[in-house]
Amino acid sequence: MTFELSERVQAVPPSGIRRFFEIAEERDEVISLGVGEPDFAAPWAARDAAITSLEQGKTSYTANRGKRELRESIAGYVADRFDLGYDPDEEILVTAGASEAVDLAFRAFVDPGDTVAIAQPSYISYEPGVIFAGGEVLPVPTREEDEFRLTVEGLERAGAADADVLVLCYPNNPTGAIMPADDLEPIAEYACEHDLIVLSDEIYAELTYDGDHTSIASFEGMRERTIVFNGFSKAHAMTGLRLGYALGPADAIGAMNKIHQYTMLSAPTTAQYAAIEALDSCANDVQEMVDQYDRRRRFVLSRFREIGMDVFEAKGAFYCFPEVPEGFTAAEFAEEVLREQGVAVVPGDVFGDGGAGHLRISYATGLEELRNALNRIEAFVANHT
Ligand code: PLP
Repeated sequence: MTFELSERVQAVPPSGIRRFFEIAEERDEVISLGVGEPDFAAPWAARDAAITSLEQGKTSYTANRGKRELRESIAGYVADRFDLGYDPDEEILVTAGASEAVDLAFRAFVDPGDTVAIAQPSYISYEPGVIFAGGEVLPVPTREEDEFRLTVEGLERAGAADADVLVLCYPNNPTGAIMPADDLEPIAEYACEHDLIVLSDEIYAELTYDGDHTSIASFEGMRERTIVFNGFSKAHAMTGLRLGYALGPADAIGAMNKIHQYTMLSAPTTAQYAAIEALDSCANDVQEMVDQYDRRRRFVLSRFREIGMDVFEAKGAFYCFPEVPEGFTAAEFAEEVLREQGVAVVPGDVFGDGGAGHLRISYATGLEELRNALNRIEAFVANHT
């Protein structure tokens, strides 16, 4: 017997990144700048809190919405850091990674046939998530000449006024672009004018290198139409603990919780203990990691410029997005530099419209490895141009 796959599953192509990891596995001594995952371990205090909770036998489910103590910590943290006010009882949902929160939002707010505008290039999970929910994706390309920031002109060009939902991701994966407050304000006005629900993935909010992050939910009229996603994978280096959260108005978070309570019950308990500690006592650890990312960012940008590859000044997350030299598509460059020099990078077009001709370089890798990888890329470019 063969399983008849649902049309929704068939409609989603396999991940464009996977092929590169398959080639990478065939080779020895590959340096990977492909993975969007911190090379640091979670702060020790957070790990210690997780261990202690296990020693104390705290291995049951928590409340569906997450431990109240954690929701209180999250409320305090987002108020301090991003000037956002959310009620721990009704407006915060703790999830298994930001990924779960994003998926819940698509399922809670997208009906079959609804249009979801996605500012691109962007994280690879949004588009499949929309398709799984039965929605239609409207790509909204951003452009290098705008530093990959979303503009009202870009939204208008794409016809986003008629969309139902707008997805934003700033600081951005894969470009490293940020949206300062001045650039966000007209987007907020546009969202209000056209009555869009805004899903704002702010998982890289701590990782900014040119001023603090501003959340789109902090603009007038936005709180009531925005769901903010955040989590512990990036700034707190806790990817494997699978913990994130969503912030939004009570009825919207209630709808997401309705799906969550039937499909997940509650986010991982051990991780919730780690997360409370991470928010309560690990700000210095986060700052140290951010300082290191910034050092690496500056090194990588300056090396690409020395090599002669154009690269815009990425100011957030841990990615930069250089242009491939003439004569290559991004996929060709990525495949050949991997085969010839053993450096894994990701072609920009896998992240959607606007990413063509670019590479995503993750600098969540130690400086020594980055140095070696950039030397190898330099040799590759010298051999081929
Ligand atoms: N959102 C963005 C923009 C990401 O880049 C990633 C991971 O790469 C995620 C969400 C997934 O986060 P989590 O590990 O919390 O599910």
